[in-house]
Amino acid sequence: MTEEDVAQWLYEAASELLEESVGMGTMEKIVDRLSLECRRQALERLVQDAAGREEMSCPRCRQALRVEEHHRARRVRSAFGLIRFVRSYGLCPACESRFYPADVALGLQERAPASPRVQEICALTALRAPAGQAQEDVRRMAGIDLDPSTLHREARRQGERALALRDADVNLSQMPDGVCELAARAIPPAAPFTLVVEIDAWNIRERDNWGMTKQMRESGEDPGRWHWVYTATVFRLDQRGTTASGRPVIADRGYVATRKGLDDFRLQLYTETIQRGLLQAEEVLILADGAAWIWNIAEDRFKGATQRVDMYHVREHLWNLASELFGTGSEKARQWVEPYLNWLKRRKDGVLDVIQGLEGLRDTLQEFSDAQQKAIQREIGYFNEHKNRMDYKKAKSLGQPRGSGAIESTCSQYQRRFKLPGQFWSLAGDEAFLALATLHRNDRWTQLFPHDGS
Ligand SMILES: [Zn+2]
Repeated sequence: MTEEDVAQWLYEAASELLEESVGMGTMEKIVDRLSLECRRQALERLVQDAAGREEMSCPRCRQALRVEEHHRARRVRSAFGLIRFVRSYGLCPACESRFYPADVALGLQERAPASPRVQEICALTALRAPAGQAQEDVRRMAGIDLDPSTLHREARRQGERALALRDADVNLSQMPDGVCELAARAIPPAAPFTLVVEIDAWNIRERDNWGMTKQMRESGEDPGRWHWVYTATVFRLDQRGTTASGRPVIADRGYVATRKGLDDFRLQLYTETIQRGLLQAEEVLILADGAAWIWNIAEDRFKGATQRVDMYHVREHLWNLASELFGTGSEKARQWVEPYLNWLKRRKDGVLDVIQGLEGLRDTLQEFSDAQQKAIQREIGYFNEHKNRMDYKKAKSLGQPRGSGAIESTCSQYQRRFKLPGQFWSLAGDEAFLALATLHRNDRWTQLFPHDGS
């Protein structure tokens, strides 16, 4: 039978079913539905053939397995419906574990009811929408009916796999050989380059008292808890470009996001930067708002890196002081702040002029209240603390970013997904989901779903 025979059969079967004057969308659905059983059967046979061919050796150590049972059945929910196949399993005397070599070769996870394609669909849709909404989308786009709990469970399973992959990379970063392996993944540079690391944090609300919500609300307790998600993005300056329409894009960009705390974040960030060229970089630039924990990480993991405070945060400091001294929105505030903003942006060591200006203000003007004097003092402290992180004139001349806009937009993209109503998983579930979302952003999807690359 040729492809044309199949097409002819499909055409005739569909013609019989179709009423006159239906739209093409209906035709597409009918052809899809009519051919579904064919595809299901073909897949089932292919899977069975592959399972039958598989040698009975240990997937871990390659030793021959001691076969314990042949023809053990397994059902898998595929993109074309339920399929059934049989395969053997056996004990590896060396590993002292039981294996189904066919399952491993087919890429099926233990006890997972869904096929790799269905798992991928669950994972992808979960990244976009909560499980309830995803069900409708999946039914419409893939013609598969997956209830929300299956979608949720499979997405969670993929999140756990993403976590395991991430942890394996972090473990590599702890050994010299592993560091070499990670570094080899970086795109080889054509010329010396600067590696930019932008860091920030955002909040996630989690509920760790399942089933207690109503009681807790009534007793006035907040069932949600806020946790910090530490986030970073890493890219090479030479890979920053613009689209045809002039929109800035970064060709190759790494991401880190975790709510497991600063120690984990530090390790994950280090691991990601190695994979993005940390060891080959001529200069490393850390960009962030003024938070102290960020500079601690910079000192700890990125010694010798250039540090820069986001210019827009610094401008905000000056604007806030101007408002406090001369009234919010007043002409006097604007007149006062303007030269300060200019020194900062355009002068070499402009921050020293800013500090000098503020000190002059403190020493000579008696017209300010105690609170205002304190505010001036506070800002002198702020600018002194960060004065080595404010070389914006030089930044511009080198074509380096002066603001941490890249990480701020990254955080708001993560937040949009995590702050949807009804978006509570669990403490562990959220970390798994963050790992899944980050793996997807990092363009490592094929590590979870090798079929995506074929
Ligand atoms: Zn073994």
